[in-house]
Amino acid sequence: MRPVLAFLLLFLPAAAQVPASDQGLLHLASTPNARLHPVPVRAVSLQPGFWKSRQDTAIRNSIPTLLALLEEKGTLDNFRRLAKPNSGIPRRGPLYTDSDLYKWLEAAAWSLAVQPNPKLEATIDQTIDTILAAQEPSGYLNTWFTGDRSSLRWTQQTSGHELYCLGHMTQAAIAYYRVTGKRKLLDGSTKFIDYLVRDFGPSPKQPLLTGHPELELARAELYRTTGNRQYLDLAAYLLSGVERERLKLSNRDLVYLFSGKPFTGRTQFEGHAVRALYAATGAADYYLETGDPAYRRTLETLAADLSSSKMFVTGGVGSRASGEAFGEPFELPNRQAYTESCAAIAGMLFHQRMLAATGDARYADLIERALYNGINSGMSSSGTLYCYRNPLAASASDRIRNPWYDTCCCPPNLQRTFAALGAYFYSTSRDGLWVHLYDNSTLDWRLESGTALKAQVQTGQPWRGDVQVTLTPAKIEEFTLYFRIPSWSLKTTVLINGNPAAEQPKPNTYLALKRAWKPGDKVTLTLDVETRLVYANPRVSEDYGKAAIQRGPILYAAEQTDNPGPAVFDLAIDHRNPISAEFLPSLLGGVTVLTHKGLALDSSTGLYAYQPPSASKPAAMTLIPYYAFHDRGPANFTVWLPVR
Ligand SMILES: [Zn+2]
Repeated sequence: MRPVLAFLLLFLPAAAQVPASDQGLLHLASTPNARLHPVPVRAVSLQPGFWKSRQDTAIRNSIPTLLALLEEKGTLDNFRRLAKPNSGIPRRGPLYTDSDLYKWLEAAAWSLAVQPNPKLEATIDQTIDTILAAQEPSGYLNTWFTGDRSSLRWTQQTSGHELYCLGHMTQAAIAYYRVTGKRKLLDGSTKFIDYLVRDFGPSPKQPLLTGHPELELARAELYRTTGNRQYLDLAAYLLSGVERERLKLSNRDLVYLFSGKPFTGRTQFEGHAVRALYAATGAADYYLETGDPAYRRTLETLAADLSSSKMFVTGGVGSRASGEAFGEPFELPNRQAYTESCAAIAGMLFHQRMLAATGDARYADLIERALYNGINSGMSSSGTLYCYRNPLAASASDRIRNPWYDTCCCPPNLQRTFAALGAYFYSTSRDGLWVHLYDNSTLDWRLESGTALKAQVQTGQPWRGDVQVTLTPAKIEEFTLYFRIPSWSLKTTVLINGNPAAEQPKPNTYLALKRAWKPGDKVTLTLDVETRLVYANPRVSEDYGKAAIQRGPILYAAEQTDNPGPAVFDLAIDHRNPISAEFLPSLLGGVTVLTHKGLALDSSTGLYAYQPPSASKPAAMTLIPYYAFHDRGPANFTVWLPVR
C-alpha cells in the first residue's frame, strides 16, 4: 500500500476500510446496532434447486429481455438525448423512468457476483457511460427535469421523484462497486449527493423532501460504503420531517407520502405502501447506525402493526388500488388486493433490517413468507412476464401477468432481489453463523474471528423437510450455529453427526448450537412440512369461515386449469378429508401439488335467499403453489376456500 493511501485510511471509519468485494449485501460490519451482519452476495452460490432455478431464469431471461424493452421504450434514449442536445430524440415515458434503468443496473450488477459475464459487464459499463454523459457539471442528473422543464427542478418534491431516482442510482452504483470494484457510477451518484448536501437542508439552505422515500436507505448504505457521515446526516434530515411548513405539505401528503413529518411520530403504516415501507427501511438503517431509542420504538410499533393486521397471508402488502395504499387494520380483500410486487419486496427489505437489528426469527419468517409467495409470484416461470398486482383471487379475464408496464418499477425490483438472493440466506455475528433460509447452496465466507468457513446445504426444501448442513471451518473452532426453525415446522428434529442434539428446536426461533466445530461436521434438520390449514383473524371479514392451505413455506391456490369440474369459487374444504401431497416433476418446472376430496357449494340460488345455501356435493380439488397462478395463462383462482 502506498504510504499516502495508508495515511488516509487511518481517518476513514472501519466500515469503509473493508474492501468493496468483502462488503455484505448490506455492509453492516461496523454498524454499532447490527446484531447480524449480512454476507457478500458473491459468498453464496445457489446450487441446483428451487431458488437456483428462479435465479437462473432471472439472470438468463429476465435481465436481458428487460434491457431490450428499456431500450425499445426509450429509457436509455432519455439519457442519450441529453448528451446530444440537437439529436431530436424525444423524452419518453413517465417522469420516473430513470429509476427503472438504475434498478435494472443493480440487478445486472448483482448477477455478475453469482454468474460472471464479461459481455454483460461491458454492456453495464457502456450503460454507465451513457448515464454519466447526461450528468451536469453541478452533479444534477435527471432526464425529466431538463430543457424546458429545468425551471421546475425541486418545485414538485411531492411527485417529482428526483430523489427516488437518485436513491436507485446510488444503490446500483454501490452494487456495481461491490461486485467489480469499479466506482465510476458511485462517483457520479456521490457527486449528485454532494450537490444536495451543499445546497439543501435546514434553513437557510433549500428544503428537501423525499416525495417517494428511497433515498434514505441509499444514503445510509453510501455512508457505510464511503464513511462520509454527511450522507447519514442527510438521511436523518429527510426522516426528521422538519420541512412541512416550508414545503406547504397537506395532511394528505403526510399520510400518502409517509414523509414530511417526523418518522418517530408515526404510529401505524398508512398511505402508499411502497413509500411507507421504504421510509421505514431507511429509518431502520438510521437506527442501526445511531441506536436512537425513539427510532427503535417506532420501528417496533410499525413492525407489529404490519404483521398483526396489514399483511396478506402471501406476505403481500397494500390493500387498496386507490393510492396503492394500506387499508384499515384487517382490511385485506382478496380480489381487490393491490399487493404490488414492489411492496412485498419493500416489506422484505424492512424485515431484513429488523432481523439484522434483533436476530429475532419472526422477521426471518416474514421474509420467507413474502419471498416464497407474494414476491415469487411477481415473475413468471419464463422470466418475461411480471405482476404489478399480486391478488389472492382473480378471474380468467384479469390480465395480471404482463411483459411491460409503463410504470416499470416491479420487474427490475424482482430481478435485483433474485440476483442477490443467496445473501439473504446467511448472516454472521460476533459469535457465529446464522442460517435463515434453506435451499441447496454453498457459503464460502469466514467467521468474524477471521477463520475461513464453508457451509454446504443440501435439502429438498421447499417440498421436503430434509436439510443437511456440512461445515468446513479452516480449523477446529468453538462458535454457535444458529438455525432458523420456521413457524410452520411444529415438530423439528436435529441430529449432529447422526446423534440427537441436546437442544430443543422451537418454532419461530433460532436453534443455537454452540460447539467446537470441526471440518466435516454435519447437522441434519428434519423440518415438518405437513400440510396445514391457515385461518385468518375473524376481523378479516373476507376470510371468515375460510382457510388457506400451506405446506412448508409454500402457500397454495385452487386454479381452474387443474380443476375441470365446478368453478373454483364454489369449492370448499371438507374438514373430514385429508389433503394429499404429490411431487409432479413435469408440472410448472417441478412442484408439489395438493389434492383433496372437497365440496362444491350450490351457487345457483340467486344472489340473496331466506335460507342458508343448500347442501353441497363432493368435488375433487387440486391445488398448486400460489406463486404460479396464471403461469399457464389466465384462469379463475383463489387462495382462501370455505371450510365445511
Ligand atoms: Zn412496483
